[in-house]
Amino acid sequence: MRVQFGSCYVELALGDITRQSVDAIVNAANSQLAGGGGVDGAIHAAAGPTLMQETIERYPDGCPTGQAVATSAGRLNVKHVFHAVGPVWKGGLKGESELLRSAILASLQLAKDHHCKNIAFPAISTGVYGYPIDLAADTSLLAVRDFIFEHHTPELVRFVLFSEGAYGAFSQRLEQLIV
Ligand code: ADP
Repeated sequence: MRVQFGSCYVELALGDITRQSVDAIVNAANSQLAGGGGVDGAIHAAAGPTLMQETIERYPDGCPTGQAVATSAGRLNVKHVFHAVGPVWKGGLKGESELLRSAILASLQLAKDHHCKNIAFPAISTGVYGYPIDLAADTSLLAVRDFIFEHHTPELVRFVLFSEGAYGAFSQRLEQLIV
């Protein structure tokens, strides 16, 4: 599914984020930037050990929740990895929505700073961090739409969803955003 917002596109794809050929992919990182399972494990495994070496060297203090930091991409077929730290879901009243929005916006700002034409996101926070997929879809897609309308970049934002359920939740929300 692909939707146009102004001069930019938001696209949904079912698949593996490590297999994307785009300028940048976003990692769903933890605040220690210590690696882990899920997307994080898959990205580090595909990129090779230089990704972790660079991350530790450049960001020894990690990255606060709601922010993102940039590294190169090791063996991945992309120029940059943006490590975004989404919130752990704690029931919805602990600022989770603002923190998820902020992590997405920070990643898009890095894309702008690094002159990326296209970027791929996973469904940040919806795995181990437990964020309900429909709420995450809502917040994530709104953040992207708002950024695109304000900055007119990047040309393409792709959400790479790892299950039919996640794809369904994102496509339902994206349809609602078409005006
Ligand atoms: P978080 O800790 O932010 O919840 P996870 O990595 O546990 O991050 O999961 C985030 C989302 O990414 C989940 O919906 C999960 O199914 C999905 N996911 C896991 N592996 C991949 C992958 N290789 N490509 C794309 N999405 C993935």
